[in-house]
Amino acid sequence: MIPDDSIISIPPDLAATLRKAKKIVVLTGSGISAESGVPTFRDAQAGLWAQYRPEELATPQAFLRNPALVWEWYEWRRDLVVKAKPNLGHDYLVIMEKQAPEFVLITQNVDGLHQQAGSQNVIELHGNIHRNKCSREGTIMEISPPAGEIPPRCKNCGAYLRPDVVWFNESLPPYAIQFAWEAAQNCDIFFSIGTSSLVQPAASLPMIAHERGAAVVEINIAETPLSTYATFALTGSAGQILQNLVKRTWQDPLQPVFDPDYNF
Ligand code: NAD
Repeated sequence: MIPDDSIISIPPDLAATLRKAKKIVVLTGSGISAESGVPTFRDAQAGLWAQYRPEELATPQAFLRNPALVWEWYEWRRDLVVKAKPNLGHDYLVIMEKQAPEFVLITQNVDGLHQQAGSQNVIELHGNIHRNKCSREGTIMEISPPAGEIPPRCKNCGAYLRPDVVWFNESLPPYAIQFAWEAAQNCDIFFSIGTSSLVQPAASLPMIAHERGAAVVEINIAETPLSTYATFALTGSAGQILQNLVKRTWQDPLQPVFDPDYNF
C-alpha cells in the first residue's frame, strides 16, 4: 500500500493532544463549505452578481436601499446551498464529535451543511440562510405561497421578510455568542477551520482559548492573523486534513496506519 504523504504530515503531538482532549471546540468558516461548491465571501461572485461585493449586499443599509436586490442575491445563494452536499470536512467533524467526550461546533456558516452531515451540537453564530424573519419584528416566518412581491411581506405586520442571517454591522444572537464564549474558555483544544479570522467577534474565540491554555489548531489553505498564535497551523484543504487527522488520531491499533479504507 502506498503511504499517504498527507497522513505523515499530521504532527504526532497533535494526534496525541486530540486523543487526550476531554473538551473539543471547533469553529468553522466558509472555507469548510468551499469544497461543497458554496463560494466564500472572498471568492469572486459569479454571473450577474460579479459587479457587487458581498459587503455591499449583506448589510441592513443595502436592504433598506434596495430590498429586492438583496433578496434576489440571497435567492441565488440559497439556490447554490440547496444544491450543495456536505463534503469530507463536514463528515469527519461528525466522526470527531462521536469520538469526543465533549464536543461543540461553532459555525459562522449559514448553509446548514454541518447539520445535514449529522453534527449534533452546533451553534450557529450567523443564523441560517434557509430561514426568513420579519425585518421589523424579527419573528421567524415561513413564506406562505404564492409569494408574489419581492421580498415577500410578513403576514402579521406587512414589513418585508429578510433572510435570518447576521449581516455586516449587525449584532450576533446573544445566546449564541455567550455559549460560544463559554465553550472557548473551557476547552482543551480549539480548532479554527476555513475562516479568515477577520470577522469579529468570531475571530476572538481562538484567542480566548489560547489565553486559557488550550491548544489551538488552525486548518486553512492560506495564512491568517491567527496562524502565528496557533499551536499547530496546518496548511491545506479542510476536507483532506480533517480526514487524515481523524484517522491518525483514532485509528484502530489493529489496523495498518495507512489504510485509506479504514471504516469507523
Ligand atoms: P471568509 O470568506 O472571510 O474566509 C474563508 C477562509 O476559508 C479563508 O481564510 C480561506 O483561505 C479559507 N479557505 C478557502 N477554501 C478552503 C478550503 N478548501 N479549506 C480550508 N480553508 C479554506 O469566510 P469567513 O471567515 O467564514 O467569514 C465571512 C462571513 O461570510 C461568515 O461570517 C459567514 O457568515 C459568511 N459566509 C457564509 C457562507 C456559508 O454559509 N457557506 C459562505 C460565504 C460567506
